[in-house]
Amino acid sequence: MKRCPACQRTYTDDTLSYCLEDGSALYNSDSGSADLAATLIIPEPRMTAPVKQETYRPTPEPPRPFTAQPPTWPSPVGALTPQALLARPGRGAAVTSLVLALSAFALLGFCIVAGASKVEETLIGGIFLFSVLLALVGAVVGIIAISRSSKDAGAQNPKPLAIVSLALNGLYLLITIIFLIIGAVAGSD
Ligand SMILES: [Zn+2]
Repeated sequence: MKRCPACQRTYTDDTLSYCLEDGSALYNSDSGSADLAATLIIPEPRMTAPVKQETYRPTPEPPRPFTAQPPTWPSPVGALTPQALLARPGRGAAVTSLVLALSAFALLGFCIVAGASKVEETLIGGIFLFSVLLALVGAVVGIIAISRSSKDAGAQNPKPLAIVSLALNGLYLLITIIFLIIGAVAGSD
């Protein structure tokens, strides 16, 4: 770019040597000897740039809805969530019910052994209560398994297994009821 020192006119045509208005010798404004007017122009885009940044508002991310984690059952069977139970077919529910029943019986056995070896009674009580809870869940899962297996027309119907599982859970609950009655009768004497 060429610039006239007399009238400050600028010429984009670099082939020009003299000003078309006053005939003054033009100088190259792109060179290091640029005048103040040229240097003052430079900050202009910088002044507008922050304004643009201020007007820029990043769209705030919508707050994620609070999704509560489903409580996982602290049983040795593994993560036993309602979703997992619903996702399982009738056979899975039947097996789960059976495992729960066996776990309940195993815990009862542990309670008897622990009671004989004079382990802290509150601990035994807690484990016993937990085993009752396992049997209760097992019974519910057993009922679900039976209702599902009745719809299942497959060759390997899990209904017998589901019935056995439900019976075991029911038996366990019956035993605990008998235990509680005996305990109540023994306590009242
Ligand atoms: Zn001029």
